[in-house]
Amino acid sequence: MMRLPPFTYLAPVSAADAVKLMADHGHDAMLVAGGTDLYPNMKRRQFEPKVLVGLRGIKALVGVRGTAEAGLTIGSGTTLTATSQHGEIARRYPALATAAGLVSTPQLRNMGTIGGNVCVDTRCNYYNQSYQWRKAVNFCMKKDGDVCLVAPGSPRCWAVSSSDTAPVLWSLGATGTLLGPAGERVIPVSALYRDDGIEYLAKRPEEILTEIRLPPADGLRCAYLKLRRRGSFDFPVLGVAVALSMDGQVVRQARIVLGAVASLPREAAEAARLLAGQRLSAELIEEVAARAARPSKPLDNTDLTHAYRKKMTRVFVSRALRRLAGLPGDGGART
Ligand SMILES: Cc1cc2nc3c(=O)[nH]c(=O)nc-3n(C[C@H](O)[C@H](O)[C@H](O)COP(=O)(O)OP(=O)(O)OC[C@H]3O[C@@H](n4cnc5c(N)ncnc54)[C@H](O)[C@@H]3O)c2cc1C
Ligand code: SF4
Repeated sequence: MMRLPPFTYLAPVSAADAVKLMADHGHDAMLVAGGTDLYPNMKRRQFEPKVLVGLRGIKALVGVRGTAEAGLTIGSGTTLTATSQHGEIARRYPALATAAGLVSTPQLRNMGTIGGNVCVDTRCNYYNQSYQWRKAVNFCMKKDGDVCLVAPGSPRCWAVSSSDTAPVLWSLGATGTLLGPAGERVIPVSALYRDDGIEYLAKRPEEILTEIRLPPADGLRCAYLKLRRRGSFDFPVLGVAVALSMDGQVVRQARIVLGAVASLPREAAEAARLLAGQRLSAELIEEVAARAARPSKPLDNTDLTHAYRKKMTRVFVSRALRRLAGLPGDGGART
């Protein structure tokens, strides 16, 4: 059995106190929300913080405020279950409810938070292993080693962004509020990520994601499709998030964002531009789907083969758009 290493747990009751504790303890400290990803990673010695700053006692981080007409604000400590079952989110931002509801298992969704999901670590077959396993292959540069075992000549890590909600929030044009020692700043969710498997977040370590704001849902149609080996629970090996702003039957603006094909969610902007000013037709959807698969460049470091995941990008974008257009061939039940 893998055990947690010893650590000190601090339990602030305000976000400002949590920021102060993070700043005081520097590199020794990490934030923990639901702990559903962080604790297993600590057991495998992928993270070795001496101090954990727990966010669960901060009541101000929990809950959903606002209306879909004006835009919703989701506290980062809101659980994935609460997010997926929130009436206004489920009705007006169904892609987000779907993505949150497809994370892991009911138990982990009851503990896991949307903030933790947005900030969740990148994944790789050579990294998400026990300490002994990693030691047997002489570790890799993401933790304890010097080389990348997937791309040995590479100067960088290619671990994969595997959050279900990140591509959806990006596609919706959501923003995140970060609180740090210098105060608060609001950035688009799209600016929160870096194309690096190790330094995958653009936020500073002591900054806390306090809330996520969704823009008004007026004219919004959105969908999220997830490819995974087991339908019961598994990380995505491909996630496709599509958000369309509609003027009646005409697409005003479109965003297509791919999850689990790179170290950050990958926007297929060129493909989405083909949709602007157009009505959704079967022919257009096929053209857009083929174009959207171009920036999908999965490596052979997660489940299922990378060639298959690349191929499925076109299929899943097509299914998502067909679903939003009400056309047949949308893949049937949610995946
Ligand atoms: C068996 C298993 C299956 C899983 N399947 C999936 C899956 O299908 N899809 C998926 O997306 N995830 C999956 N996960 C990962 C994880 O459960 C979820 O991503 C969950 O949402 C993490 O939320 P948390 O609150 O538990 O985060 P934690 O584990 O507490 O933290 C995760 C990371 O986020 C940071 N963090 C947390 N909150 C904040 C904040 N407010 N501000 C700044 N940083 C913060 C932490 O420091 C840590 O680095 C799975 C995990 C397990 C163990
Ligand atoms: S991509 Fe390379 S460096 Fe990154 S976790 Fe995998 S093997 Fe390690």
